[in-house]
Amino acid sequence: MKKYKYLFGPVPSRRLGRSLGVDLIPYKTCSQDCVFCQLGRTPEKTIIRNEYVPIQEVCDEINEWLKKDGNTDHVTLAGSGEPTLHSNFGEVLKYVKKKSSIQTVLLTNGSLFYQPEVREAASQAHIVKVSVSAWDQNSFGWINRPHQFIDFNQMIEGQKAFCNEFKGVLWVEVFLVAGMNSMPSDVSKISALVEQLKPNRIHLNTAVRPPAEDFVKALSRDQLATLCNLFNSPVEIIAAYKNMNDSETSANEEAIFSMLTRRPCTAEDIAGTFGMHFNEVSKYIGNLLRKELIHTERTGNDIYYIIRRKEA
Ligand code: SF4
Repeated sequence: MKKYKYLFGPVPSRRLGRSLGVDLIPYKTCSQDCVFCQLGRTPEKTIIRNEYVPIQEVCDEINEWLKKDGNTDHVTLAGSGEPTLHSNFGEVLKYVKKKSSIQTVLLTNGSLFYQPEVREAASQAHIVKVSVSAWDQNSFGWINRPHQFIDFNQMIEGQKAFCNEFKGVLWVEVFLVAGMNSMPSDVSKISALVEQLKPNRIHLNTAVRPPAEDFVKALSRDQLATLCNLFNSPVEIIAAYKNMNDSETSANEEAIFSMLTRRPCTAEDIAGTFGMHFNEVSKYIGNLLRKELIHTERTGNDIYYIIRRKEA
């Protein structure tokens, strides 16, 4: 099967059926550094919009995938960072619409919606899912840790403007962290803001997968279910609790580590062996590097990951 640089999946999704992912942003390029981020910490926050990856190459890959496969219910701009930071993300949405009847989805933190050009590009999607997990600048600061130039009120005003203009389906994700934004009084304030966006549906999530920060704790399903009552729009709990006990991440990290005990590998080798997206591999490799269990060695143009052997 051909490996694509910017496409991953299609992955099965309960809400979207089969969804082909398009990743327009280098790993962890984001305007925020959310404490609950499943991709780890953001090394350097940015609000600079740029052609981070060549849009023509992305469209060429989509075109090729549509011709060779094309079996998906949705094409989703998502992946390893904030997609609206790509200066031409709207062109990808338009391209998919021009070439197919597949529904397009944009997953965004909504932090750049104060910019009219970002709203205009986002309006090309059939479904937009925006995140709101805070209620003022302070809570935004400790939960989402935004770039210093993002002002919470300006961001929310931008999101409201978008929602008034947008003709598609709007979902809002509210991510709740125990003890940070989970008190009923906190959730009521978030709910009041979210209702102003008039969402078609609200998705409640919590930290069931390993977060960027160890102090982040998940709410139980019962706690989320109780908090659902504080919203007026239709609410759905989307936290995948089944993964809490079998810890998918540690299983994958362990499998990669075990592979590296047998031979040094590049990230491409690992992605190919496990059928993982490159960015997912990067996350596990990052964990192993931070734990000083592996180190890197360059050979020609390739970077190999090698087990650190204890000295006898
Ligand atoms: S959760 Fe999303 S918005 Fe927050 S840091 Fe991670 S990629 Fe950025």
